[in-house]
Amino acid sequence: MRRLNTILLLLLIQPGFCAAAPSAYQLYLRGELSKAASSYFSDAAAAPGQARPLLNAAMCLRQAGRYRAAAAALEEALKRDTYNPDIYSELGWLRFHQADYDGARAAFEGALGIQELHARAELGLASVYANLDDKEKTLLHLEKYRKLRPDFSGVDYILAWNFMNFKLYKEAEEALIEALRKDPTFTEARLPLAGIYARQGKFNEAWNQYFRVLDYAPRHPLATSMMKVLEGKLTKQPEEIRPPFRIVKPLKMEPVDAVASLLKSVKLRVGIGTNSAGKQGRNNLLRVKSFEGLSVTGKVSGKVFATIPPDETWFAVYENGAVVLKDPDGKVYGRFQGPVLLKPLKINGSVIFDASSKIKNPWFSGADRQYRGVIELFPIKGRGIGVVNTLESELYLLGVVPSEVAPQWPYESLKAQAVIARTQILIRRARGGLHKKDGYHICDGQHCQAYKGMSIEANTTSRAVVDTEGEILTYHGKPAYTFYHSNCGGWIQASKEVNGWGDSPYLVTKSDTQPDKPLAPMDPWNFHLWLTDNPQANCNYPGRVRAAEFRWMKIIKHKDMTFRVNKDYAVGELLDIVPLQRSPSGNVNSILLKGAKKTVTVSREHLIRNILGFSSLKSTLFEIEINRFKNGKVRNYWLYGGGWGHAIGMCQSGAAGLAGKYDKKYREILEFYFPGTNIRKIKYAPKKKAPVTPAAAAEPEMEPVPQDLPALPDPAPLPENPDEVPSPQLP
Ligand SMILES: [Zn+2]
Ligand SMILES: [Zn+2]
Repeated sequence: MRRLNTILLLLLIQPGFCAAAPSAYQLYLRGELSKAASSYFSDAAAAPGQARPLLNAAMCLRQAGRYRAAAAALEEALKRDTYNPDIYSELGWLRFHQADYDGARAAFEGALGIQELHARAELGLASVYANLDDKEKTLLHLEKYRKLRPDFSGVDYILAWNFMNFKLYKEAEEALIEALRKDPTFTEARLPLAGIYARQGKFNEAWNQYFRVLDYAPRHPLATSMMKVLEGKLTKQPEEIRPPFRIVKPLKMEPVDAVASLLKSVKLRVGIGTNSAGKQGRNNLLRVKSFEGLSVTGKVSGKVFATIPPDETWFAVYENGAVVLKDPDGKVYGRFQGPVLLKPLKINGSVIFDASSKIKNPWFSGADRQYRGVIELFPIKGRGIGVVNTLESELYLLGVVPSEVAPQWPYESLKAQAVIARTQILIRRARGGLHKKDGYHICDGQHCQAYKGMSIEANTTSRAVVDTEGEILTYHGKPAYTFYHSNCGGWIQASKEVNGWGDSPYLVTKSDTQPDKPLAPMDPWNFHLWLTDNPQANCNYPGRVRAAEFRWMKIIKHKDMTFRVNKDYAVGELLDIVPLQRSPSGNVNSILLKGAKKTVTVSREHLIRNILGFSSLKSTLFEIEINRFKNGKVRNYWLYGGGWGHAIGMCQSGAAGLAGKYDKKYREILEFYFPGTNIRKIKYAPKKKAPVTPAAAAEPEMEPVPQDLPALPDPAPLPENPDEVPSPQLP
């Protein structure tokens, strides 16, 4: 009795006690999958007419790796909802992944008996026949699947996977080429294609494919070792097989309107040719030239050391910790231990880097590069030549917008991109920025925002920069965190859901669809159907956006997955992979890797993306199905995913869809992705020499956007007294 009193008392002093119990859905999002399933089963018992709680329970059990229990829940659900083809189809998949092919076939046929054109059931049936070694029926059902999902690169990949199994290499080759046409980043499709070429003795083609794998998955072990093997067998020079992109001198030089009409803006230092961490690449050598002529000046001394004539290519070589400048005859003009500046001799001129296969940094070896403004070269001890491009921020944006989005996209989406890219500059520059130690404000890769320089500039994107000149996105008067990503997969993720991203009131979760209305979050069953289907969304925009960015899939062999995971975590042979936490958007925010030796939980966005397969996953929006042999051993992993990038902030593909499909203006697009923010205009100083009018001077400036942002310190790796050491060979 006394005990009971205590309990009653406890309940009384915790008024929220009952309300605090998490719902089945909350348990599912937290990754407490068994508890979530139990909770859905209680819901099912309370509502005996409803199949939905059982379907949700089944999805929780499936995610937890308990396929037998999940299948039992679906069988129970079928008693409540007899004519639902999706339940039959998913039951088929659960049986298929447990190597119960007869059971799977019956379930898939059940689905197709109710709904003739059921894509997932067709794929399932094809997969069943592949395992029963029935080539004809496998290909028949894959063909039907292809008709239902024609734009899906996963179709061609699965076709190729099956052709390979049936040793139909010619057909596999065609299917892989098709998969790569739809998705050039599809490393898992490129590797077998390279293998097919190598098998056929087409060594040049094989080498080229392995080379391209490294574009998307640098240091890929198989590609790296195969390129070495093939190098002795090539019949052409590597540069002939893969000629670098060349910039040729234009016939006439027309003044660019954008440059003439833009005001002088703040100077920006951009790290060029940086790696995925935003650090300088290994530049052992650079070949520099210009169409206008270049002056070579010591940054500290201001002394002019040389003038590079127009169209002449000079060399900057990293030797003994210095940048050594040589003319085409190899004559040395200086050994610089500090920064040296390359300035075009004419206004609106540019600095060009000629590509050469001798350069270790792929950014400068694969294609010529061209930059406005000034190029600063400096030695980085033990690494090579650092390259920084200094130019006005509005001119920088001319090269950013077309690097980030397609210049042929609907115009209002280009303007939205220009505004958020400009806002990113302020965010990245604040307090010296993320790259303070590197000696620049912003890097030129995905790490900050892509900047490919002048050669990629396009009329449409330049106009978008001019039309939005000085405009940034603000929240309560301060620059907003204008994060963006390529494609959200149909649902935007809130920043607070992701480890280390902070909680901004305008970086919220929402469905990326029109009309813009709050939708109920997806329960586990709904989410699964949505992710494996081709649903309507702003970013599902055929013709403008690659279908492979919106929906993707890959199959990874058990041996490869175990190898990859063990490179980072010594878990031993992999026994299970269980996604735990999910955002309401469906993005996975922690994942359990169960191995024979130990079990680890990975919960950083980029780690989750990098660890599951040889090339990183496009996003964390995925489900994983584990395919096992009859004896329970893992055979391979099927991943179904959506989107490209972190899904926080603006969906670039969705912005294109909002502008192109729904006629939205850039302000509406920005309001959609960053609700509660405003567009404000920075006041730039007028161009040099033009007098400052009292009216302009009297106008109040925006608080958080100072015109003269504090200058960054010199690059950290520089020596104490960074001056040039003139070469003794100089006359
Ligand atoms: Zn960066
Ligand atoms: Zn989207």
